[in-house]
Amino acid sequence: MPMPDSSPEDHDDLHCSQHGAGHVAYICEHLANRPEQRWHCDYPTEETPWPDAWCDTCDAALQAAGGDWDDESAPEIKIICHHCYEELQGKSVHCLTPEAHAAWSECLEEYLPLLQGKQARLAAKIKGCDWEYDQETGLLTFSKNGKSLLVAEFESVGSFSSVSRTWLWSWANFTTFPNVRTRITAVRDFGEARDFLPLIIPKWPAELVDAWEVSAFAVHLLHAEGIYRAPIHQGFHFLAIMSIQS
Ligand SMILES: [Zn+2]
Ligand SMILES: [Zn+2]
Repeated sequence: MPMPDSSPEDHDDLHCSQHGAGHVAYICEHLANRPEQRWHCDYPTEETPWPDAWCDTCDAALQAAGGDWDDESAPEIKIICHHCYEELQGKSVHCLTPEAHAAWSECLEEYLPLLQGKQARLAAKIKGCDWEYDQETGLLTFSKNGKSLLVAEFESVGSFSSVSRTWLWSWANFTTFPNVRTRITAVRDFGEARDFLPLIIPKWPAELVDAWEVSAFAVHLLHAEGIYRAPIHQGFHFLAIMSIQS
């Protein structure tokens, strides 16, 4: 694993030998050595986008110590750059337990055909339309010849980057307006309860098919009418259509 160069100029920033300038993030040495395991950490917030993370072993020690690290339970900490943090955490996305893996497949078998049906109905409604979406109002407008035909309320699900080939949940994307990423946390809660790691890891390596799969969960759980896949710079923004107003 690439380690940061020493003597960063600012306590919040460091220079990573792989990524150059980055922000400081802290993980236990076990995660640094073997990232393909369950990560224990808070969800990212705008204030703390890369929260401290530790492994099962360190978490057991933490619980045994009563929920606070002491000298004996405190793990060895690695300081890494935020790019390394995201890459390492992304590697843990497939570490589902056999039970969770089976349940995940069952859900997909149910949700994907439902999504396909909704997409077909949606496609028929918006065929040949121009579109524009406005994060401020949370509205997606479809129009023909400059005349608005359909207005739909949307919730941002996440975005797929065709360059980094990653999926990023909207709840972890702080450039997305807060008003279009409030309901999506219900999908994360569902993932949390079932150990569905693709629903709870903020950013992970993905292909387009993965983006559609997690969107199928979102459409089902949010009772959405389908997905509008909006092209953005170097990728797609997946929007769940919550209600078509006209
Ligand atoms: Zn650990
Ligand atoms: Zn790095």
